[in-house]
Amino acid sequence: MKGKFIVFEGIDGAGLTTQSTLLEKYLKSKGLNVLLTKEPTNSLIGGLIRAALKKEWKTSNDVLQLLFSADRAHHLNQEIIPALRDGKIVISDRYFLSTIAYGMVELEKEWLKSLNSKFPQPDIVIILDLPPKISIERIKSSRFGFELFEEEKRLEKIRNNFLELSKEYKNCFIIDASKSIEEVHRQVINLVEKIL
Ligand code: ADP
Ligand code: MG
Repeated sequence: MKGKFIVFEGIDGAGLTTQSTLLEKYLKSKGLNVLLTKEPTNSLIGGLIRAALKKEWKTSNDVLQLLFSADRAHHLNQEIIPALRDGKIVISDRYFLSTIAYGMVELEKEWLKSLNSKFPQPDIVIILDLPPKISIERIKSSRFGFELFEEEKRLEKIRNNFLELSKEYKNCFIIDASKSIEEVHRQVINLVEKIL
């Protein structure tokens, strides 16, 4: 495919939305054709996922990760793959590493990996890494209420899962996300420039 596929991953509050938005602005300012997107998506499946995270309906962890993977398959077919074929730079705020890193706290890692094994590998996966203590402080000062996954012990496991997975998948880079927004953005640009 002609385009480039850039993914941001990391624990909640690491700055995925902040950095993916800044990167979109930066690339657009250079005149590039960019699609910024996110998971869970705004599709019906994404809506089911968000409602489950807010505990508006109850389901099990395996069903939730199947929904995330179904949402991803739909997202790829409807948006990501067509945009890449058009030669766009696609930036996704989360992708399949999130299913594996979050899901493997309770579920079998190999099952989660196999569920996601057919999905295209991004050109670059930027893992924003920081201690959960800091990410939780950021979330507390910016959002109302906590969702299902946002507790410190759990986030520490998920953080370590991302670090472990970064060695098992291609094109993963880790950035210290405890730095300022501007400093993290500079490091993101350095990485992305290499693949453009
Ligand atoms: P995520 O999408 O990873 O959950 P957000 O990008 O929404 O995280 O950021 C959560 C909060 O933390 C926001 O209020 C954001 O402005 C703030 N934030 C993001 N990155 C940094 C940073 N490097 N330093 C300080 N605050 C940050
Ligand atoms: Mg976000």
